[in-house]
Amino acid sequence: MRAALTALIEELKRLKAGGLRNVSISEEALAGLRKSVASRGTGITSPSAVTAPSRDISSSALTTSTAVRSGAGAERARTDISSAPVRVAVTPPVTASKPKLPPPPVVSLPDGDKQTRWNALLEIVTQDPVCAQHVRPGKKVVLGVGHLDAKIFFCGEAPGAEEEAQGEPFVGPAGQLLTKMIQAMGLKRSDVYIGNIMNWRPDLPTPPGQAQTGNRPPTEEEITYCLPYLRAQLEIVNPDFIVALGSTAAQGLFGYGSFKTLGEIRGRWKPFAEKPVMVTYHPSYILRNPTNRSKRAIWEDLLKVMERVSLPISDRQRAYFLDK
Ligand code: URA
Repeated sequence: MRAALTALIEELKRLKAGGLRNVSISEEALAGLRKSVASRGTGITSPSAVTAPSRDISSSALTTSTAVRSGAGAERARTDISSAPVRVAVTPPVTASKPKLPPPPVVSLPDGDKQTRWNALLEIVTQDPVCAQHVRPGKKVVLGVGHLDAKIFFCGEAPGAEEEAQGEPFVGPAGQLLTKMIQAMGLKRSDVYIGNIMNWRPDLPTPPGQAQTGNRPPTEEEITYCLPYLRAQLEIVNPDFIVALGSTAAQGLFGYGSFKTLGEIRGRWKPFAEKPVMVTYHPSYILRNPTNRSKRAIWEDLLKVMERVSLPISDRQRAYFLDK
């Protein structure tokens, strides 16, 4: 029981650090906690710490009490403490305010060659306290990777589990597929540059000590915060073309509300930072829909990129994924 409560306390502290100000707790859970605190002593400063179903966690009384989660994390939270007599009933944190991020960073790169500037950028993003705050212990802030003279800059959404573990974009299943797509274009992964709109993995409620399962798209605010780092990479690499992978990447580049469905802008050239951008599907779309039809749709977009870059295109390449 003590371990479960300690875990809850740690999670509450984490949520508070992330800006959450209110949590909702069922009466039943409160009663259980009160009973447990009274009978065992838990390190909670006072039984009166848990007295009402919705409270401000900025108040000192609740800096050490219970955590509330929603969505996928809710079930995990329940499971986590299932051996304990007290069950924290989970309700959505309706009153929770989203963590407010500071204004986006102003990134100023030193003079020097591309590698010097890129190294400086890596240092800046790694030292960024907001990025650091969003990266869990043992995980990494993720900057782009690839050739600093690349003609093509692939831009994805946000790091996932493998990416935040390795500190490199597109190394998980979607990344392996992206690497195959690049190879199908007659290139190596190291010939292009691969970056993301985001430098950290958007978090989902996860009990302390457990690995986050699943991903969520970044919020507009998160994207806005990280965008200067993407712009800085574009400034350094100065590619001829950008390939935006999926609607989050496209929204990040062109702005929220600039299109309703990806279909509206997919397969067309559209400028960002004076660079032509080809918008296509995210490789994870193919992982979810591994049909020749969806593969062909992305491939047609990549053929357009190959044409613009003047890459040789064989008849075989032109016919990829046309067979039923
Ligand atoms: N998906 C992305 O958009 N980026 C990654 O780095 C990995 C998966």
